[in-house]
Amino acid sequence: MPAEIIDGVAIAAKVRARVAEETAELRKRGVTPGLTAVLVGDDPASGVYVASKERACKEAGMNGKSIRLPASTSEEALLLLIDTLNNDPTVHGILVQMPLPKQISEQKVIRRIAPTKDVDGFHPFNVGKLFTGDADGFAPCTPAGVQVMLEEAGVETAGKDAVIIGRSNIVGKPMAALLIQSGKNANCTVTICHSRTKDLLAHTRRADILIAAIGKPEMVTGDMVKPGAVVIDVGINRVDDPAAPKGYRIVGDVHFEQVSKVASRISPVPGGVGRMTIAMLLANTVRAARLTLEH
Ligand code: NAD
Repeated sequence: MPAEIIDGVAIAAKVRARVAEETAELRKRGVTPGLTAVLVGDDPASGVYVASKERACKEAGMNGKSIRLPASTSEEALLLLIDTLNNDPTVHGILVQMPLPKQISEQKVIRRIAPTKDVDGFHPFNVGKLFTGDADGFAPCTPAGVQVMLEEAGVETAGKDAVIIGRSNIVGKPMAALLIQSGKNANCTVTICHSRTKDLLAHTRRADILIAAIGKPEMVTGDMVKPGAVVIDVGINRVDDPAAPKGYRIVGDVHFEQVSKVASRISPVPGGVGRMTIAMLLANTVRAARLTLEH
């Protein structure tokens, strides 16, 4: 039997509807959640991401603003802008689109954002909270979205072997931190594999939950997956396809055709994790706004 699809489009829509409801409630209490995205330079892909974040905010009734700065912007100028946003009570979430031009240290920028407005969850303060299981921090949006997908799909995680391929700070490591906690939608035994893992197959083949965040088109093939496993594909890769209208198509890190014959459930690309990232960004921003009422 082919694997059941874990529909990221439907789950993200549900999250966004919840965010819109919470936004309406906060607005009645005099607070309109606000997210400001900062984009330095004119990378077209980053421009598209930032524009879609702004649109998604507006759809949810939130204030979504983008600040676009030239690629020549100095580190000092960006840090001063972050200080201004940190002090602006109408801004609840700050997002600086990465990558940044060479003259700007990404780490300095991440550390300058007030942890209470760090809705990307990259500040070391929030990373620490994530690892210690302190729920009042912010988790990075992509892995948080994967966890919501598992929950919404009714996947039992407790006691399961979760294998994550990829150890980046934005996906692999925080994914492990989320699944390893004791609590709801977690309690997994977690393995992180990476480019220096000796016998990848031995790990992936015993995974009850396999999460691929590698950035290599269709690398996870059917023989790497345990029959009945739940497979989540985080990868977004462009591959040439002369038959496609744009000359390329988007594929994940998982070979969907092969793996969907072995797995019990699978998230597709597109239509999977990608949709969750912005939804979770909105959810984090609404929570940041709510926290200002509680302190
Ligand atoms: P990254 O390049 O920072 O990390 C990739 C990881 O894969 C590394 O840790 C590396 O050790 C590991 N890796 C590489 N080759 C390997 C191999 N042969 N065997 C085992 N491990 C290997 O990438 P990232 O930022 O974590 O992103 C991963 C993928 O997820 C990319 O395709 C990216 O586009 C996608 N992504 C999607 C979203 C989303 O919203 N859906 C968000 C972030 C990233």
